[in-house]
Amino acid sequence: MDKATIRNLKEIKNKRVLIRVDHNVPQDKEGNITDDTRIVGSLDTIRFCLDKGAKVILCSHLGRPKSKDDKQFSLKPVVERLKKYLDGVKITFVNDSVGKEVEKAVSKLNGGEILYLENIRFYKEETANDEGFSRQLANLCDYYVNDAFGAAHRAHSSTEGITRFVPSVAGFLMEREIKILGEAIKKPKRPLTVIFGGAKIADKVAVMDNVLKIADNILVGGGCVYTFIKAQGGEIGNSIVNNDMLDYCKGVIDLAKKQKVNLVLGVDCIAGDKFGADANVRTFETAKIRAGWEGFDIGPKTVELFKNVIAKSGTIIWCGPLGVTEIEKFAGGSKAIAEALAESKAITIAGGGDTAFTVAKFGLADKLTHLSTGGSASLELLEGKVLPGVASLLEIDQII
Ligand code: AMP
Repeated sequence: MDKATIRNLKEIKNKRVLIRVDHNVPQDKEGNITDDTRIVGSLDTIRFCLDKGAKVILCSHLGRPKSKDDKQFSLKPVVERLKKYLDGVKITFVNDSVGKEVEKAVSKLNGGEILYLENIRFYKEETANDEGFSRQLANLCDYYVNDAFGAAHRAHSSTEGITRFVPSVAGFLMEREIKILGEAIKKPKRPLTVIFGGAKIADKVAVMDNVLKIADNILVGGGCVYTFIKAQGGEIGNSIVNNDMLDYCKGVIDLAKKQKVNLVLGVDCIAGDKFGADANVRTFETAKIRAGWEGFDIGPKTVELFKNVIAKSGTIIWCGPLGVTEIEKFAGGSKAIAEALAESKAITIAGGGDTAFTVAKFGLADKLTHLSTGGSASLELLEGKVLPGVASLLEIDQII
């Protein structure tokens, strides 16, 4: 990482440090947090600033609220969860993100305390990257720390706009994400294997284009595989397909051959006769799925094929679940591959879409080298893009 981090800030005692965290956690219908990986991931940076006596201001988004009245998107439950991890730290929640009430709360803040702002996306100015709004945010602090890797692919006020008005550096989580994912694609321990799953091939095109240039093995399962199989003339029944991308998939198959990339498409699948936990289940070859049946998971032969490649890999990047893991009977393939990654001695990274949450759900979170907290941000890194929330930070040699 060639960007300055909080280590570059010489003295933050009693300084107002605004940390943009990504506490956009998944919640169930009742608003209970179902996975707090992102909160835990931000603790190192928060504790570092608190230990140094900074006045810490935390800012995050949660979901996609349409207006301030969308109260189910309030960050209050997140603050309660954070309190459990920061015993003895005074944390005050303020019901707004900018303005008089916030300014007053900031002025009352002491070193070693936290002020937590309300959902920044309650303001439409945030996503519009409005200059006035960015200035208002910047005026709240002496230093800005971006630790929100999961939002770094967006040029919003709290991720990019603010950096124009206040000295800005990266937090530890941001540093770790960029370092691990960056190294995995720039100088991977070989062979490099990238696994593609998830619902739609269209979301993964840019990643696939980049990965074709750098990977030794590409494994395709999940909903992505059926467009490839149809492109080769296979019968895919009712499985998810993108008919606009048949030529693209043919192109990928040809390019992989030309560039000597080992492209492995799922050869069999667990199919259902409908979408749901009560579906009847049958195993088919992916190229011979009968009409009325839909492939919802990779089958046992595919699991073995993928496991053989995984066992010989130096670095493995996994983007997208290999089946409909929300339904137990279609989660087995993803679980088997998560276990194979957990047992592997390779550098193992779950990034992109729901992959990290899937691995965590199987209880294997601490068995992989890295679970990326940023689904889309990690995909954009794998596409080879520079993230706006990173590009705008100070350079590594700048000590402030
Ligand atoms: P993504 O956000 O692209 O990683 O997609 C994640 C979603 O892909 C999950 O909700 C899975 O249920 C879904 N998925 C995985 N495999 C399939 C499949 N074979 N058919 C339909 N959906 C799938």
